[in-house]
Amino acid sequence: MIVMKFGGSSVDTAESIERVVGIVRGQRHRQPVVVVSAMAKTTRKLLEAADTAAAGDLDLPRAWALFEELRDYHWRESHAAILPAGHAVLDAMLERCFGELRGVLEEIASEGRVTPRLADHVASFGELVSSAILSLALDTFENGLEAPWIDCRQVVITNDEFTRAKPVYEETEPRLREAILPHVQAGRVPVLGGYVGATLDGVTTTLGKEGSDFSAAIVGAAIQAEEVQIWTDVDGIMTADPRVVRMARRVRTLSFDEALELACSGAKKPHYGTLGPAGRADVPIRILNSWHLHLASESIAEGTLIGRRNAAAPPGIKSIACKPGIHQIVVRPSGTGGFLDRVWEVCERFRPALLTLDADEQRAELSLDRPDRLAEIREAFERFASVEVGRGRTVISMVSEDLASSPGLADMALEMARPWEPRLVLRGVSAPCVRCLVDEREAEDVIAELHARVFPGPEGEPIE
Ligand code: ADP
Ligand code: MG
Repeated sequence: MIVMKFGGSSVDTAESIERVVGIVRGQRHRQPVVVVSAMAKTTRKLLEAADTAAAGDLDLPRAWALFEELRDYHWRESHAAILPAGHAVLDAMLERCFGELRGVLEEIASEGRVTPRLADHVASFGELVSSAILSLALDTFENGLEAPWIDCRQVVITNDEFTRAKPVYEETEPRLREAILPHVQAGRVPVLGGYVGATLDGVTTTLGKEGSDFSAAIVGAAIQAEEVQIWTDVDGIMTADPRVVRMARRVRTLSFDEALELACSGAKKPHYGTLGPAGRADVPIRILNSWHLHLASESIAEGTLIGRRNAAAPPGIKSIACKPGIHQIVVRPSGTGGFLDRVWEVCERFRPALLTLDADEQRAELSLDRPDRLAEIREAFERFASVEVGRGRTVISMVSEDLASSPGLADMALEMARPWEPRLVLRGVSAPCVRCLVDEREAEDVIAELHARVFPGPEGEPIE
């Protein structure tokens, strides 16, 4: 069994959906279970519709315009992707979902505010609709697969921290197995929406931003999948965000700890939550590109494997991640004793928003990417320390487990980043890294220059 997760950009149009159907069919022999995100930009528009509905009369036309835009978009693309034989079922589903969404928006308009609970209810429609569409698209394909839709709210059980709910694994795992395994054993391909769950009482929740990768890992761990595939719009984990560094190269293998540290340090892929369940269950994750399949080249189909690292490869930096919009936080002990342990405790609590740059018994320097949580964090530190805050920074992190085992590599990385005052971070991280804090305005240039120094090899060549 494998889990195949498709991101929003992989299901943004009828053509993309057809491509996904082809990819799933190609992996049929591996007994796939499909997890899918909302169609491109849907979640953002749903939440915008909720906000404008809450703003009252003046903005209401905007809320309905967004509603109609979303309904038309889903109608258009799904009708083009699904054979006419499936249209009656499709139309009934769309009508039911968008009818319910209209009701929730009306409720928000009358309440005049979007509670976190209502925000989750609205946001959930993206995945509920996209997964129902994909299930029909797979199902109606000529010589089709049987692809039953599974309601993720029945199987992914969470606590009630709306907008960032945490899975309750003891409840979730048996439900997932019960809902999925009989289908797989009968040769069917179950499809479920990511990101969305529900409390034990059946109230809809979401796992937080980009939570579909997380859902895929939860499913993969529960059914002990051979592999969780995350299909996206890049060839794998790259040596830097390809939108920032055009020359970025694919990374062949990463350990769970390296992937986790990269995710915490700002790499968008894989999502932070994914690594926990996958790592615990020892289910490898493979990042793949759903767009370049026609090239069918071996290197592209290989993507990046997160799990076991190639032990024979020479030591090297794996990737450079960056997080903009950073507050620099410097804390110094105000009392005596246990300073460092207390700093780690706070970092643990606010992970991944807080990153360590430097820490000893006299001073700790951290970066924070959630200004909305600054007050809480300040309060947590001020119980035992004084706090200074600087703004407008970007933190750049070079990650590799080899930084701990190979002093030569650590020296080299520090030397390459010397102009930007690098710090080697070995404690309080999942994998060792070298970090620099730079002015936001110069960040892109620094990353490009650092990337050119660290990865001088030929463009296009993957690194181990
Ligand atoms: P999806 O919609 O498929 O879930 P996302 O848009 O959330 O995908 O994430 C994919 C994007 O992550 C890529 O297009 C890329 O710009 C960005 N990204 C940032 N850092 C990296 C990295 N180191 N390797 C690969 N992609 C990265
Ligand atoms: Mg995404």
